[in-house]
Formats: sequence, C-alpha cells, structure tokens
Amino acid sequence: MNINLHHTELSRANGPGLRLVVWVQGCELNCKGCFNQPTHNPETGLSIPVSALAEQINALDSIDGVTISGGEPLDQALAIEALINAVHREKNWVLYTGYAPKEIFRDATMTRVVKAVDLTLAGRYHSNAIHPYQHKQLIKTSDRVDIDFFRTKRTVEFVVSSLSMTKTGLPIQQTSPDAVKRCPT
Ligand code: SF4
Repeated sequence: MNINLHHTELSRANGPGLRLVVWVQGCELNCKGCFNQPTHNPETGLSIPVSALAEQINALDSIDGVTISGGEPLDQALAIEALINAVHREKNWVLYTGYAPKEIFRDATMTRVVKAVDLTLAGRYHSNAIHPYQHKQLIKTSDRVDIDFFRTKRTVEFVVSSLSMTKTGLPIQQTSPDAVKRCPT
C-alpha cells in the first residue's frame, strides 16, 4: 500500500516535543480561505510505500512523536492506519483533520485512525477565526500528548534549506495567508 505525500519535515511547532510532520498530498474539503492549496491535488505529490515511510520514522530515535497533517490525512485513512500500525509504539501521534467528529464517526476506517492516534484536532478551517483552533474539536484517546501545547503555545518555526525557506506554526497575529504552511484543519 502507498501513501501520497507532499513532504515530511522535523518540527517543534506542530505538537509537543520534536516531531516528524507528515504532510500528505490530496484534500477534497476545499475549506474557504485555505492557505495550503498546493496540497489539494491528489494527482500530484510523492507516492511511496507505507512500509518505507514507517522504516524512516522508526529510524528516528530522537523524535517524540509524529504529526499527520496536509492536505487531508483522512482522505487516505487506510494508508494512515497502516502507517500507524507499522511504527514502533513509543512514538505518539497527533492528527490534524478538516473532518468534523460526526463525519469521522460515520466512517469505520476514519474512526479506527482517530482511535489509534493520541490526539486529533478535528473540524473545518475557518479563515476568520480568532485562533486557528477556535473551531477545532479535540479528540483525546490517551495522556501521551500534552494538549496544553495547542491551547497556549504560539510557536513560529522557519525551516531553511539550500533550496527553500518555509514557515510553520501559530503566529501571534495573522500573517499573509501564503506565509504559513501548516494545514490549519
Ligand atoms: S484547511 Fe486543510 S482540510 Fe481544509 S482545504 Fe485546506 S488542506 Fe484541506
């Protein structure tokens, strides 16, 4: 089974601790004002075997956990479920999704994914929200992820490489829409 990726990135701004962020490619929700539109097209991206991504994650001894964002992770729910099952249990999981709980719990595979991760931030992005998480519902299935991180921290992170610079996280004030890379779902 393959998973379609936009990219992966180490981050301290997408959940507590040092995390690998898996940005999936493909989203059918088209939230108004979404500032991550390059992740929408499911026909683009990098399709790789779930086992290969799991191997990469298992080799990252220094990370505290994995954050899955996008794009819309639950549009690839079977692949995400397979990934979680293939990763060593000591890693904790945070899931961002634009689907609301009532939509998730109508679908058996999406439900299994949400039960398998430690924390889900669920619900559509609202571009006029005071805080990006204002309209999110938190679904917590364990105590392994500190949910205060999402209530109190407004970290902004710059990732610089020889080819590009990206910005992710929660700025104190709204920045220009294309400046923030995190999927706000
Ligand atoms: S905010 Fe997230 S769920 Fe909504 S359209 Fe953008 S990528 Fe999709």
